[in-house]
Amino acid sequence: MDDLDIKLLVDLLRDRIHPDSSLGQHFLLDENVINRAIEIASNNHPIDSSSHVLEIGPGPGSLTLSLLRKNAKVTAIEIDPEAISHLNRVFKDQKDNLFLIEGDVLTTNWPNDITHIVSNIPYQISSPIIDQIQRYNNFNPLLGISILVQDEFAERMSMTSGYSSRGPLGHALWLDFDVELDMKVSPHSFSPSPRVNSRLVKLKPTIREEKNNLDHRLFTMVITHCFANRRRKLRTLLSNPPRRLSRISGWHRDRWNSAIKSISSEILELRPENLSSLQWSNLISHISIQEFESRT
Ligand code: SAH
Repeated sequence: MDDLDIKLLVDLLRDRIHPDSSLGQHFLLDENVINRAIEIASNNHPIDSSSHVLEIGPGPGSLTLSLLRKNAKVTAIEIDPEAISHLNRVFKDQKDNLFLIEGDVLTTNWPNDITHIVSNIPYQISSPIIDQIQRYNNFNPLLGISILVQDEFAERMSMTSGYSSRGPLGHALWLDFDVELDMKVSPHSFSPSPRVNSRLVKLKPTIREEKNNLDHRLFTMVITHCFANRRRKLRTLLSNPPRRLSRISGWHRDRWNSAIKSISSEILELRPENLSSLQWSNLISHISIQEFESRT
């Protein structure tokens, strides 16, 4: 492993494959980005020999190399069989620390003792990956997460660039994480260069008391329903229940209509973008705790 470096790893893989943009194959060349990704994931708890890090889409293995040099145990899930055989070759002396899984990250079982996630993820499946990370964290709390995503997506995760970046993605993440934008990464830091700018993002697991009274599914469903027409007022948006409401146990149209009547008209005058995550969580908790007496 001592003789490996980023450029060599990328060259070795590129000798074997023609990068496939439909798999988001843009390989990192910039060591500063790799070091920073590991640093921000380590913030709460350092990545060391006691860590088990999940890497999604290792590709040439540059990030993998730096993680292994921290003596961490690494599980890396990669869909491309050519990349897998490349990784098996270059890391053949790392069998005790590196566990390579060939498959789709969205359908593969993740080990249940992951402590950190560090990854330059395939951008085209950013949303479902984030969703899966959040679900994982709810059952197996993580210590630190850093991911590299498309810049515009990063802004929607953190909701820090004005009201227009507010939406279902950021509000759902708020329930479990403090989302912090870190370094911007230009297309030149990759081979081949993507067309978009990228951004490192830190997800810091956090416990929110507001979550105790909240049905996570109802929260996401109501917010997604409202943001589908983000220019309308809540009065109009909430006058109809979300389309799939009855899939949530205990919920149906009558209970919804009755709960909505108790919302203050001040709130109903607002548009989805005007509410912070905390206000959404208060509103949706309020909706769910309304007593409903069926007339039948
Ligand atoms: N982490 C590497 C490679 C990033 S490119 C680096 O920073 O250089 C994205 C990688 O994700 C590619 O290797 C691609 O083959 C892999 N990939 C794409 N879709 C995937 C999926 N569904 N599951 C697992 N890996 C995937």
